[in-house]
Amino acid sequence: MTQIGKLRTFVADITRLIERAPGEAAILAEGRALLAGLVAEDDWLPEAYARPHPEYYQQHLLYADPLDRLSIVSFVWGPGQETPVHDHRVWGLVGVLRGAEVARNYTVGPKGELLESPPERLERGSVAAVSPTIGDIHRISNAYDDRASISIHVYGGNIGSIRRAVFDAASGRTKEFVSGYSNAAVPNLWAA
Ligand code: FE
Repeated sequence: MTQIGKLRTFVADITRLIERAPGEAAILAEGRALLAGLVAEDDWLPEAYARPHPEYYQQHLLYADPLDRLSIVSFVWGPGQETPVHDHRVWGLVGVLRGAEVARNYTVGPKGELLESPPERLERGSVAAVSPTIGDIHRISNAYDDRASISIHVYGGNIGSIRRAVFDAASGRTKEFVSGYSNAAVPNLWAA
């Protein structure tokens, strides 16, 4: 199998899982195992989708389902980069392909303030999950300040086009946004 063939196989497997429509809990459980398999080996992501940007973390679309049932994105954090606190509005899986990341999860308190859970370090090969049912608000940071980290994210929708929110960590105030993607072209999953 070609290196990119690993991603093609993952796309087929996760699409079959969605086709079965087993409900979110089963999608997260079975999808977690599939994603763990994909990120177990760091030898398939084309270099163009692994490059950090000096100022901004990158979100490269790798694949989007034509029926908007899922999308697969490579997130590349340069040294010390991190996301703002944000939500997703759909289920999501985060699998660490390279380096390590720190996830901070939040819930909304009675006065609309954000309550932060203890940070969780996501080592290479590990998979974390988010969703409106299990906890949807978080912030992800590169655990390293001297190298890039990369994670592969799978979402239950076309995440780049979903209207969702970023949060001010101190006040809990929200601002709506649509993330889009950093790249203009997607990888050729059928390359020989
Ligand atoms: Fe996120």
